[in-house]
Amino acid sequence: MSPTDFSTLNLSAKLLKNLSSLGYEKMTAIQAQSLPHILAGKDVIAQGKTGSGKTAAFGLGILQKLDVKNFQVQSLVLCPTRELADQVAKEIRRLARSINNIKVSTLCGGMPFGPQISSLQSGAHIIVGTPGRIEDHFSKNTLNLDTLTTLVLDEADRMLDMGFQKSLDIILRKMPAKRQTLLFSATYPKQIQSIAKRIMVNPVLVQVTSTHDNATIEQHFYKVTDDKNRLTALMLILLQNRPGSALVFCNTKKETKAVAEQLYNYGFSALALHGDLEQYDRDQTLVRFANKSTAILVATDVAARGLDIDALDAVINYQIAHDSEIHIHRIGRTGRAGSKGAAYSLYSDREAHKVALVESNVDPILDAEPLPSHSLLDTQPIQAQMATIKIAGGKKHKVRPGDILGALTGKQGIAGKQVGKINIFDTWSYVAINRDVIRAALKKLGQGQLKGRSFRVRLIRD
Ligand code: AMP
Repeated sequence: MSPTDFSTLNLSAKLLKNLSSLGYEKMTAIQAQSLPHILAGKDVIAQGKTGSGKTAAFGLGILQKLDVKNFQVQSLVLCPTRELADQVAKEIRRLARSINNIKVSTLCGGMPFGPQISSLQSGAHIIVGTPGRIEDHFSKNTLNLDTLTTLVLDEADRMLDMGFQKSLDIILRKMPAKRQTLLFSATYPKQIQSIAKRIMVNPVLVQVTSTHDNATIEQHFYKVTDDKNRLTALMLILLQNRPGSALVFCNTKKETKAVAEQLYNYGFSALALHGDLEQYDRDQTLVRFANKSTAILVATDVAARGLDIDALDAVINYQIAHDSEIHIHRIGRTGRAGSKGAAYSLYSDREAHKVALVESNVDPILDAEPLPSHSLLDTQPIQAQMATIKIAGGKKHKVRPGDILGALTGKQGIAGKQVGKINIFDTWSYVAINRDVIRAALKKLGQGQLKGRSFRVRLIRD
C-alpha cells in the first residue's frame, strides 16, 4: 500500500469503494496533505487551485462525519460563483453516491427563491452556495445554521476579490463558533491570512507548490509587433496546434468581443464570454463550449471564474495577464488532473516587463519562439465537432438526460456515441450531437416524444 492510497485514510468502507468506482486511485497532492488533518477534525487552510482535487479533499471530510439520519444543515460550502457552486455540488454528490439519502442543496444568486426554500424545508444536509444568496436567505428567515458543524470557504481569494467580505461576516455570525473551518484558496494574500486568524482555530497550513504547473503545462511565448499582428499570431497558433477546445484570455471586455468576432468572421468556431452577457446567454455559451459545439472561447478573467471545463487542450493569453498569479490561474485551466496541457502567450515590447514577472515562476526561463508559418492561414479554420440542439422541456417537465438519450437513439435513431453532453435547465435542455448526424437527430427529436409529450426543438446556429 502506498502512502497516497485512499485506503490509508480513516474513511468509511462505502466511501472508499465509491472512490475506486470513480477511478480515483491515488490521492492528489492536496488530498494527501490535507485529508489526514481534515478527517482528524482540525481546521485546515489549503492553498490549491481548481484542478488540484480540492473539492474531494473537503467533500470527503464533510461526508465522513455526516449524520445522514439528521436532516438538518451540517455543512456549508461557500463559493464565489454559481458555476463553481454547481461544480462543487456535483462533485460532492458523486462522492456521496454510495450513501443513501444524502441531500445537497445549492443556493445561488440569479436563481428563483421558491425552489431553494422548498429544498431547505424538506431538509438538506449540505449546502453549497454563493455568499450573497445565503445572506438573502437569512434575511428571509429561510435558513438556519444552528446545527452546522463544518464550514468550507472555497476559492476564498476570489470571494474577497468579488467583494463578498461583508456577506461573509454576516454569515459567520449566524453559525456556531464551535465548528470545523476549512479554507481553500489559490493564493494566500494578507487579507486571507487575517480572515483565517479571525475565524479559524489553530489551523494547519497545507501548501501544494506550483511545480505542478511547470511539469504538466508546456508554456510557449511569442512576440508580436502590433494588434493586427496579434490576431494573426493567435490564428497561426490555433491553426498549427488545432486544439479541440481552447480558451483565449483577453484583458478587456472590448477586446474579448472583438477577438471572438474576428475569429468567427474568419471561419473559426468561436464565442465570447464577458460580463455584459445576460445570464441566459452566459449559460448557453458555457454549455456550447463545454459540450464541444464551440471550439474556442474568448473570455475575460472575471467571466471565466469558476468555469468548469475538463480537458482544455490549450490556453492562449492574447495579452499577458496583469500579474503572475492571474497568469498561473489562467494556464492552470489546461492540463488538469494529470493530463498534459499547453499554454501560449502573446506579448509586445510594451508587455515585456510582465513576461519577466510571469516567467519568474517558470523554470527554465523561456525565450520567445518564432511564430508558425503564415502558410497555415490557407488551411481550414477550426470547426467544432458537435452542434447543440435546444429542447423546450426541462426539469419542470421532469425531463431527464435518459429521456433525451432514449428519444434520440430509439428505433431508427442515431447511435449513442454520436450524442454528447446533455444539460437540463428548469424549462429547457441542451443536447450535443455530432455534426455528421445533426439532421437525423433533429428529425428524431421532432417526431418523437419525451415524457409522453412533444417539445419544440431547434438547432443553435453557430
Ligand atoms: P477539483 O480541483 O476539485 O476541481 O478537481 C479536479 C478534477 O480532478 C475533478 O474532475 C475531479 O473529479 C478529479 N479528481 C479529484 N481527485 C482525484 C483523484 N484522487 N484521482 C483522480 N481524479 C481526481
